[in-house]
Amino acid sequence: MTTPETAPRRIAIVGGHCVLPDEREPEADVLVIGDRVVRVGPVEPAPGDLVIDAAGCWVVPGLIDLHVHGGAGADFADGSLHAVKTALDFHAAHGTTRAVASLVPMESARLRQAMTTLADRPSRGLLGVHLEGPYVSAAKRGGLDRAFLRPPDGKGFRELVDGFESSVRIVTLAPELPGAAGLLEAVRDVGAIAAIGHSEATYEQALAAIEQGVRHVTHLGNAMSGLHHRAPGIFGAALFHDRVTLELIVDGIHVHPDVVRFLVEDLSARGQLDRLSLVTDAIRAAGSADGRFTLGNLAGTVYGGVARLADGTLAGSTLTLDAALRNVVRFSGVPIPRAIQLVTRNPAAVLGETHLGQLRPGAVADIVLLDDDLDVRTTIRSGEVIFNSSAPV
Ligand SMILES: [Zn+2]
Repeated sequence: MTTPETAPRRIAIVGGHCVLPDEREPEADVLVIGDRVVRVGPVEPAPGDLVIDAAGCWVVPGLIDLHVHGGAGADFADGSLHAVKTALDFHAAHGTTRAVASLVPMESARLRQAMTTLADRPSRGLLGVHLEGPYVSAAKRGGLDRAFLRPPDGKGFRELVDGFESSVRIVTLAPELPGAAGLLEAVRDVGAIAAIGHSEATYEQALAAIEQGVRHVTHLGNAMSGLHHRAPGIFGAALFHDRVTLELIVDGIHVHPDVVRFLVEDLSARGQLDRLSLVTDAIRAAGSADGRFTLGNLAGTVYGGVARLADGTLAGSTLTLDAALRNVVRFSGVPIPRAIQLVTRNPAAVLGETHLGQLRPGAVADIVLLDDDLDVRTTIRSGEVIFNSSAPV
C-alpha cells in the first residue's frame, strides 16, 4: 500500500491526437505514472492526477537531437552545469527532451572538463557526448578549428576518452586519413558509433569505411564530398548504402529545401525513411538575437539567423528541432506522423535507446504536445512537466 505522499506522480493527457509507433494518430489519452507511459487509450483521470487537456494538439514522443552544441548563450563545452542546464532548458522549450551533446575540437583538457560535466547525464536529458573531431579533414573542417584537428590515432582517442567511455556515443571522423583503421577499432571498442563527416572521402573510400564499421553520417551534405554523377562522394555512398543512418540539418540553409524533399521522397519510396534523423547542430547563438558568437576557440557572427565564421563558412546553426520538424513538412510535404518519426523514433534507434522515441506503454514518459502549427505547447521529460508555453516551469 502506497501512501499519497509516496505515490508516484500521475499525469493524464486527454483528448489529443497521439502519434503512435505505427504512425497512427488516434484520438487517445495517455496515462503517465512516475517516469513511464502506462496506457495509451481511453483514460479516466483519478483524483489527484495532473490532467492536461490536449484537445487540438498532437501528442508525440519527446524530440531527440543527436547533434547539438548549445543554445541560449550556453555551450555544452563551457564546462559548467549551469551552461548544460541553460542549453537543455532552451531546447526543451522547443520539444527536445533528450540530446547528445556535441563537442568541437579544442584543448584536450577543456574537452575532458566538458566530458566531466556532461557525465552526470540522465537526470538532465543528456544521452551522452558526440565528439565532432578532432580526427577530421582540414579541407572539410567547416566551423571546426584547424589548430585542434589531429590525424586519426586510436591510442590518442583512447587517452582522450579515458574514464568517459560510456558517455561517448558518436565520433565523427574522416576515414580517408592515414590511421583511420586503428581509430575505427578504438571507437568500436568503447561502444561508440563511428560517423563519417568533415571528410573528403571519395565514394569508394566512403563505401570501404562503411564496410569497416562506419554506420552514421554526420550532417549529410555539409562538410563532405558532394554528389557528382561521375564521383558520387560521401553523399552518394550515404544515399545508396542502406546500412548507414543519416543526419540532416533542415533549416533551409545547410541543405536546399528541394534536396530535403528529394531525400525524404526517395527514402520513403525505398522504405528507408527510418534511416533519417533531423538534427539541429545548434550552437550557443540559437535563441539569441543576431550578433557575435564563439564556437570552440573560433568566433563568428549570426546575421539573419545564419551563423558564419568571418570567411563566410557556416558554423553550426541557430535551429531548434521543432523548427526543423515544421521545415521538413513544409519542404517535403511528408505527412506529420511520418515527420515526427524523424525527430523521435529514428534518432532513438540510432542510439539503440528503444525505451525512448515511442509513445507506448512501458516507454519512458518523454512527451511533447504540439499545436496545429507544430509549435510546442508542453514538454514532459521522465514524467515531469519541464516546459509549458502558457506558464514556463
Ligand atoms: Zn556540429
